[in-house]
Amino acid sequence: MGTTTHRHRFAMEIVNQSDTPFYYYDMDVLHATLDEISRLTAGFPYKIHYAVKANGNPHILSEIKRCGIGVDLVSGGEIMAALKAGFTPHDMNFSGVGKSDWEIRLGLEHEIGCFNVESVPELDIIDHLASLMDKRANIAIRVNPDIDPHTHKNITTGTAENKFGIKIKDLEHIIHRAIHLPHIHLMGLHFHIGSQITSMQPYVLLCETINRLLDHYDSQGIHFEMINVGGGLGIDYHEPDTHAIPDFEGYFGTFKQHLHLRDNQQLHFELGRAIVGQCGTLFSRVVLVKENSKKFIVLDAGMNNLIRPALYEAYHEIQNLTSRETTNEVYDVVGPVCESTDVFAHDRRLPVTHRGDLIAIRSTGAYGESMASTYNMRPLAHSLFHSSK
Ligand SMILES: *Cc1c(COP(=O)(O)O)cnc(C)c1O
Repeated sequence: MGTTTHRHRFAMEIVNQSDTPFYYYDMDVLHATLDEISRLTAGFPYKIHYAVKANGNPHILSEIKRCGIGVDLVSGGEIMAALKAGFTPHDMNFSGVGKSDWEIRLGLEHEIGCFNVESVPELDIIDHLASLMDKRANIAIRVNPDIDPHTHKNITTGTAENKFGIKIKDLEHIIHRAIHLPHIHLMGLHFHIGSQITSMQPYVLLCETINRLLDHYDSQGIHFEMINVGGGLGIDYHEPDTHAIPDFEGYFGTFKQHLHLRDNQQLHFELGRAIVGQCGTLFSRVVLVKENSKKFIVLDAGMNNLIRPALYEAYHEIQNLTSRETTNEVYDVVGPVCESTDVFAHDRRLPVTHRGDLIAIRSTGAYGESMASTYNMRPLAHSLFHSSK
């Protein structure tokens, strides 16, 4: 076993026996995260739905299920995965701009908790399909509040120029339509402004927008039984060990302080990354080190295993767990895939690295395994779970 200067808590006896690349999930971190959420939401009319698209690994899903939270789903495949993991349909939300008929029917058949509806055509389609099945669909209208969370442009969802939700000026029309459709039960409003949000300011703006909307609809005598503020809380990709648990105190505290919930009104949250991001690590071995005009560490994991750096220029901590070198070197850390964007890090300072060294790519529990592909006909990485209990 190699020496390491990192304060990580990997079970090296398991790690060293496994073929790379693989995803390693620290279930202690996942449990501690879920416990913190329970502690901070207890006694409030809050309900958490885990966004399955962040990580749909069956083992992760059943752990989350055991903690009694619901799920936010974005496809028929995710509905089936959630049913298989034992989630109750009542605890399922179904989001997405383009739900296919079979996916809507699947949701109706199981009488899921809520469809998050993103357009007038979608509302009419759900009403029609529900009428054919003699069902009534619970829905929330997804509002696009035009709030810029100042994250990467590819993960912003709540500004006016992207495809998600209904603009506030068009909201009144769809709400009145929903109220009058016979196979629709309007439960409330849904918002989701983006992802990897680490400042609370966008959430304060969101609360203020919601307060204004609630005042407006109160004056029309329209009561919403539920408000869903989506997810998006970010994690610390730079300090995965010091900040293994995201700032839930600040996050829930913002809504406790700024959102004026009405009587008999529930507040729903849909968190993905904040729940699973820090429990996952992608392990890989160094295939070789080469030098062109730069020094490259070539790994046996590639963008097919973890696409976030290639897709969003995302940062992940990279640790060499086995190098015994005392000096550092600057490297580009790359994968073997035949694409020039198959780069995990540019100009990263690491201990002098050799073929065979074990590399940990941290904070990969969210949008890692779930976005993996077999591009270049590379096999999917397997997954491994560790719990000290
Ligand atoms: C992706 C998504 C989420 C979860 O986003 P995170 O940034 O992982 O918290 C929540 N709600 C909806 C509608 C989503 O599309």
